[in-house]
Amino acid sequence: MTVDVRFGPIRASPSSAPSRRHSSMRACAVAPTHTSARIAARRHRSAALPRRSFAPPSGRAFPRALHASASSSPDAPGAMVAPFVDHSSQSNYPAVKVTHADFDVSVDFERKEITGAIVLRAEVGDAPADELVLDTRDLAIASCAVDDAAVAFEVQSEPHPVMGAALAVKLGRSYPAGATLSVRIEYSTSPSSSAVQWLRPEQTAGGSHPYLFTQCQAIHARALYPCQDTPAAKLTYAAKVTVPDPLTALMSAIPTASESIPGTSRTTFAFEQKVPIPPYLLALAVGNLESRAIGPRSAVWSEPETVEAGAFEFSETEDFLTAAERVAGPYVWGRYDLLLLPPSFPYGGMENPCLTFVTPTLLAGDRSQAHVVAHEIAHSWSGNLVTNLTWEHFWLNEGFTVFIERKIMHQLYGKSVFDFNAIGGLMELKETVDRLGATHPHTVLMPTLEGGVDPDDVFSKVPYEKGFAFLVYLEHMASGRSDADADAANGTEAFAAFLKAHFERSKFGCVTSEGFRASYAEAFPEANEKVDWDTWLTAPGMPPVDVGAYYDGTSAALSGDLARKWHLCDVLGVGTPDRPPGAAKSDVEGFDSTRVDHFLLSLLEYRGGTHPLSLAVVKSLEELYGLGAYKNSEIRCKWLQLRLGAGDATALEEAADMVKSQGRMKYLRPLYRALRLYKDGGRAFAEKTFEEARRMYHPIAEKMVASDLGL
Ligand SMILES: [Zn+2]
Repeated sequence: MTVDVRFGPIRASPSSAPSRRHSSMRACAVAPTHTSARIAARRHRSAALPRRSFAPPSGRAFPRALHASASSSPDAPGAMVAPFVDHSSQSNYPAVKVTHADFDVSVDFERKEITGAIVLRAEVGDAPADELVLDTRDLAIASCAVDDAAVAFEVQSEPHPVMGAALAVKLGRSYPAGATLSVRIEYSTSPSSSAVQWLRPEQTAGGSHPYLFTQCQAIHARALYPCQDTPAAKLTYAAKVTVPDPLTALMSAIPTASESIPGTSRTTFAFEQKVPIPPYLLALAVGNLESRAIGPRSAVWSEPETVEAGAFEFSETEDFLTAAERVAGPYVWGRYDLLLLPPSFPYGGMENPCLTFVTPTLLAGDRSQAHVVAHEIAHSWSGNLVTNLTWEHFWLNEGFTVFIERKIMHQLYGKSVFDFNAIGGLMELKETVDRLGATHPHTVLMPTLEGGVDPDDVFSKVPYEKGFAFLVYLEHMASGRSDADADAANGTEAFAAFLKAHFERSKFGCVTSEGFRASYAEAFPEANEKVDWDTWLTAPGMPPVDVGAYYDGTSAALSGDLARKWHLCDVLGVGTPDRPPGAAKSDVEGFDSTRVDHFLLSLLEYRGGTHPLSLAVVKSLEELYGLGAYKNSEIRCKWLQLRLGAGDATALEEAADMVKSQGRMKYLRPLYRALRLYKDGGRAFAEKTFEEARRMYHPIAEKMVASDLGL
């Protein structure tokens, strides 16, 4: 998904020296925040919980088959085949493997339930099996049948607080290794499912029809349907979804038919996904939707009110797809459509196959946030086609995706844009590491999730930007050049071929960090000798190598230097003088929104949240540059953060408006943090605003903001 890697402007770093090397980044050790302390506490609590905290009614413990069998899917030539362990699933994959699901469900907006049946096709692993263990959370299970005969089943009596309730389907007899079976389960979701957001008509753009959308990454698929909710358990699916007229259902699949049900005001939509996907990529949206074609294999879907704006904003989609195919190989999914969601969608985008979900906060009117679409397109290879085996290897999804995203932008707009974005990403990584603390376990590229740690709690820019930095480093080493300023971002043919081969070799399967390491060692044995894999993968903090040295900061210097001038004029936050010498409206003439965004990012980076700008300086910035007039949500969010830090009382209501009008976590979390820190009554204001707005948020966003606010 998009944690929101930016097409931001930038200079190598807003350092005090005119260097383009990132080694000059201001060292800014910040004590762990309340949030990180809380996450650490939660982790500790979770770790103390037994993995299986329930005793089935029979009194017999569930067998721990999950850890007993070897993985079928490690990726690399010569990789050690370790026993498969996913600390985020209680299913018994791969003792039994679900390979396909057929859904027949209907959507009830009154009861806020999705109800129906799922038929799972499954294959017994290497040893005989007499049960199939699935993950569920808040699902009501009505019945189970195996090969058309009703069977007993058990739902974990004390659900795990993170992993939910395991469902053990008794197969009725022992099935031999390699046998196939069909398991039918009648079930219903809960109105409070963590995977589904139900919107009342007034929460939509049109205001007259209800809406629902799902979000299953990382471990919420189990709250939508019974499944082996580990990325390793890839499956194909087909679905029939019945919804009230005049609503349309869409899924992460190819639509195959739609049929009105005679005598009712309901319609059934049918879908097929023939490419195996990890369970978290199953997605459903239902609403008053229409589409506009934007390319030979693409359309934008949204409510009628926003469909034209979406078609304009995402008109470059086919160019991105073509560039991505040059980088990563053929696109295997057929369609690439976009669904523009209502404002409460918690992410920038979610790479649901065939149908990327995107936030309407991308509608900047100038295509300045189209890079988010490049990111989601890149996931068609990294994440969707080749998937992290477990969430501990999440950087293989996101670091690779940022790498391909920036390669796409490089192909279309040149190396200066690649460098500009890479520098911005490194600044954002530094902000994250400073905020969490340089020894915080969540700054490790390959964190451990053992003991029931919720992957949502570990989620940050680290897998994105530290992962990206690692790939840039590996590419640089593979080039064989030793000078620090080598043009790594232009890539080498050998590394480009390696990347394509990586996707071709592992397509439809999963990858691990160890497997990727073995592939790299095989392809680039000499370079590999010099790579300190252990530090990169397991040490906390910023990357062990200053990859900022590989980027040319010239393009970012303009906006970065301007930020530095303002920083220096008010370095103590006293506002005397209130502007740098010679500051004028013309400073930002010719700045597009990405460059304005970079200017603000650089100012935030200089201040690190510890030395706010003075109110006088903030007023001068507004007077000269008119920053409040920008509609681009990146700019709005950063400008509000700066104003709140300066104690600008007029920013309080504006920030409240922004967190009440959309639910994207990228904006909610820093704005709520800034509101909470506001010098005068900020905490109470933040909590009051959250109470007023929380019903609009997606459950994941609501939980994360509550955690940030210490609630
Ligand atoms: Zn992503």
